[in-house]
Amino acid sequence: MYKITLIPGDGIGPEISEATKRVIEAIDVPIEWDVQEAGLDVFEREGTPLPQRVIDSIKKNKVALKGPITTPVGTGFRSVNVALRQNLDLYCCLRPSKTFKGTRTKFDNVDIVIIRENTEDLYAGIEFEKGSDGAKKITDLINQLTGKTIRHDSGISIKPISVYATERIVRFAFEYTRKNNRKKVAVVHKANIMKYSDGLFLETARDVAKKYSDIDFEDKIVDNMCMQLVQKPELYDVIVLPNLYGDIVSDLAAGLIGGLGLAPGANLGEDYAVFEPVHGSAPKYKGLNKVNPLAMILSGVMMLRHLGEKKAAERLENAVFSVIEEGRYLTYDMKPAPDDPTASTTSMVADAIIKKLI
Ligand code: NAD
Repeated sequence: MYKITLIPGDGIGPEISEATKRVIEAIDVPIEWDVQEAGLDVFEREGTPLPQRVIDSIKKNKVALKGPITTPVGTGFRSVNVALRQNLDLYCCLRPSKTFKGTRTKFDNVDIVIIRENTEDLYAGIEFEKGSDGAKKITDLINQLTGKTIRHDSGISIKPISVYATERIVRFAFEYTRKNNRKKVAVVHKANIMKYSDGLFLETARDVAKKYSDIDFEDKIVDNMCMQLVQKPELYDVIVLPNLYGDIVSDLAAGLIGGLGLAPGANLGEDYAVFEPVHGSAPKYKGLNKVNPLAMILSGVMMLRHLGEKKAAERLENAVFSVIEEGRYLTYDMKPAPDDPTASTTSMVADAIIKKLI
């Protein structure tokens, strides 16, 4: 019996989590769910969006399946998602984007894996609010050290990139490439401008690449990479990026295969693994039983593979492929227009997958 932490999340999280739980329960894998609430509603009830019990549960069970959680924009509490990744040292965010037969996309040949560094960069959460004592001290110090002027009405976010974190994420990318019989790793950066952060990322990646001479390696500046991906995505295989570019390019890659409703992901560390879709909590769709559960269900497939349940993973994945290919039970986002009257609900998609499994 596997004990798995299930974090339904908020917004559309609970409905796609319920759909995912139902399809996983329809395959023959013994799982006991340890359901842990976190997010907006919990913040209102318990005064924190991420109670310690959630972290304790993942530490005990080692594996979690997670729905999205809202982060207030600009003000309010800091991201629960980032806090979990940092707390559990889930240093790798793995996000495959592969075209599914039967989806309406501009490309039919995308097969990309995004590997995003998950612990540092502008996501480190080291920030100084405009007008704060910290911001004043930092601007004074920087003005003094560099001779450049940071305006006193500036807010400041710090972007640390270390050799340690870069080495382990790039090594992960190469090991993943080798294990999965892939051919090429592209490292993405803006080293022409940020010479000491992205420059270090690139230099460290080049060092690591020397130990993997059997795998092709190239580097690309992030803006160019975005353009290349929307023109010729078939040229790319495994892509490794610092945290922020990884976040942005993940959504771009999801767009290439038909949208966020289809893009699964995993946050992986040495000790723990948290599986969650790329997308967020899409609050405007909350409670409508309308959104696509497939990104979270496919995150469940990744979780089953991680548990070593290869056959179960394949069965579930094939059931998803077959529902997509048949095209009868698909949510609005996979239809030609969002108000398509033939769109299925979240729970209808789960039912269609379950029918394929039994
Ligand atoms: P979002 O990913 O929630 O949604 C953007 C748009 O994508 C939606 O309006 C919808 O049109 C579409 N979409 C997303 N998921 C879908 C699905 N399953 N089916 C169909 N369409 C789908 O991004 P956002 O609106 O920028 O963010 C909303 C909140 O989610 C923010 O608070 C953000 O911080 C948070 N967020 C959380 C996570 C996470 O939990 N890991 C990730 C990203 C964003």
